[in-house]
Order: sequence, then C-alpha cells, then structure tokens
Amino acid sequence: MVSVIKNILIILVAIFLSFIHCTATGQASTSATYHVGLSDKILDFSDIKFIDEDTKVPLEEIAAYLDIPIEQEKGITYIRKNGIEIIFNENSKIISKNGAPLDWYPIVKINGKLFISVNFIATEMGYKVHDFQKQKTQRIYRDDYGHMSHENYEVFLNQFLNKQTSTLPTKTEVKSKANIYLTFDDGPNRYTGINNSILKKYNVHATFFFVGNYMKKNKPIIDAVVKDGHYIGTHSMTHDKEKVYKSSKSFIDEMNEGAKLIKQMTGNEAKLVRVPYGSKPDLTVTMQSELIKKGYKLWDWDVDSRDWKYTDKEADQIVKNVKAGIEKSYKSGDRDIIVLLHDRSQTTKALPQIIEWLQKEGYTLKTYEPEHHIVKNFLHDTSL
Ligand SMILES: [Zn+2]
Repeated sequence: MVSVIKNILIILVAIFLSFIHCTATGQASTSATYHVGLSDKILDFSDIKFIDEDTKVPLEEIAAYLDIPIEQEKGITYIRKNGIEIIFNENSKIISKNGAPLDWYPIVKINGKLFISVNFIATEMGYKVHDFQKQKTQRIYRDDYGHMSHENYEVFLNQFLNKQTSTLPTKTEVKSKANIYLTFDDGPNRYTGINNSILKKYNVHATFFFVGNYMKKNKPIIDAVVKDGHYIGTHSMTHDKEKVYKSSKSFIDEMNEGAKLIKQMTGNEAKLVRVPYGSKPDLTVTMQSELIKKGYKLWDWDVDSRDWKYTDKEADQIVKNVKAGIEKSYKSGDRDIIVLLHDRSQTTKALPQIIEWLQKEGYTLKTYEPEHHIVKNFLHDTSL
C-alpha cells in the first residue's frame, strides 16, 4: 500500500516537473499530424511539430527544399537569402531579422534540433502560404512559379492522405540535388536555334547572353528563345575586348545598348549581364560601380565547359568537363551551379548528353529568375 502511494507521488512530481519545464521554455510541443506542401508536391520531413498554434519543421530540411543557405557558428545560426538576414542566437534566445529583434519565436530548439515556423520562413522568402484545414496541410507556393489551383491541390491531397492511411507504402518526393543553370554565350546565331530546340525537346530552360550586334539579323531565333521561356541577358554589343574594356564609359555604353536592344526586341527587361571573357581581370572598380548604379546584376560561372576549344568530334570532352565541374561544385556544397557554354556547333553535339546526365543524376535545370537573383561573380560583390 505504501509503495502504491509512493509511486503515485513520484508520478505526480514528474507531471509537475514536466509542466514547469514546458512553461519555462514556453513550448507546449506536441507532434502534430500536419503536412507541408510546396507548389504541387507534399514535402517529406523527418518531424513536424505544432507549437504555439504554429506548424514548425526542421530548419535544415526546409532550407534544403527552398534552397536557402544556412551558416552556423558558435551557437548562432544565420539564414541569408535575397538580401534578408535572419539570425538565431541560441545563447541569448534572440531572433532578429535584418538586425531588428523579433517579438516572437519562429525558431525553436528541441532536443538539439532547430525547428522553424513554416509560415515565417515561407513568407520571408517570398512565398505565400495556404492552409488546408481539413487536410491539416500548409501549402507553400508562389504565383510566379507554375502550380495547380488550390481546388486541384485539395483533390491531390485527399488522394495522398487516403493512400497514406491504407497499407500501401507512400511515395516520398525526390529532392533535387542542386539547381543547374546552363548559360549560352555569344549568340544569337544558327546554333542558338539548335540549342533552343534541344532544350525544348527535354522540356528544360536555360539562360542566353546575346551579343547586341548579332541580334538584329536573328529576330526569328530570338523570338523562339523568348517564346520557349528562356532568359536573355546581354553580353555587350560588340564582344570586342579592346572596345568593351577601353574605358568605364565604353563599358557601360556597351551594356546599356545591349540591354536596351533586348528590351526593344523582346519586351523583357535585361538586368542580368555577362561581360565578355568574365569579370576578371578586365573589369575595373569603376565599371563595377557603374553596373551597380544602373541596377545591373552580373553573372560569371562556376563550371567552364571550355566548349570553344573542341571540334564537333571532340564533343565528348565537353560533356566530361561539365560533369567533372558540376560534381566538384556540388561536393563543395554549391546548390546553385552555373555552367558556361556557347552557341557553337560542338556544343549542340554535347548538349543532349549533358541534359540527360543532369536529369539522371537528379539535378534541376533552371533559367535565371530575376526575382530570385543568386550572387555569382568572380568579384564576390553581393550587390551584383
Ligand atoms: Zn563571349
């Protein structure tokens, strides 16, 4: 009898202590049965928690899905993207956005693991969030990314949830390894048209940097590139090293005229430039600040295919260079990899193999998205 009372007392004390613990940390955490969707998918998280009326998921996992770089040092976590910096200091428990402390806790640490509010991270990164209450699902989406209607997504969710409750093993979404941006310089010319039709065949998108002086006589090719959804940036008017880099005036004139011509011929803004021969070593500090002043962004590359130096028969070597370069970048932790290619005959021979390999390896091919600019220049200038 005495031991029964003793056991009850122990249980009561334990309940009391765990109550104090929860109150002290402010986390009445329960593992909820919530789901999180992204565009037309349902994401696969190792854990989803419902804390303070808010769905939270492991920070590392959602960062990988939304392609957000995270850095951690001495108990401080930095989340930086698109000019937004969110800092979580585990020691002071302060969470700040662009230097200003927040008055709530979108990030919490549970059993050594950081969880972040889905609503918070999604909205901060420019996504919208829609709640499907019946299906206990939060859907993250963007209107500038293609996605099915909420009605259709609800049907899809119901099918998914029905399948999940049955004994069938559920299919989990395959994560992309990294984003690959194929870029083609020196067009437009007849090979631009061929590269464009190859991209179309594989239903993927890329980025073209056109030389202004070749544009006027290649209107039909330019029209096809625009119609098929690729981004066009300028690669100067003349591509003549002597002229382009002669002075900061001639440099910015070449860029302005190139961008203006793209706007005239396609109707699209062309704020992304690739300077001939890359930004090192010819681009001066003044040229750099001219670009910033005029609101341009500058892309160099991570992987140089060196395609220009091979013949058609040596196209395999281009494929090899691209594979090796991407694998190296991926291993170094890069998840947005830019590949330099050209509108040349030998490149059209290598392109199908390159795309097939990327798709087989689970990479995602993307075109440049101005609203999600990624800093990629040899100058390490984050304003460009
Ligand atoms: Zn070039």
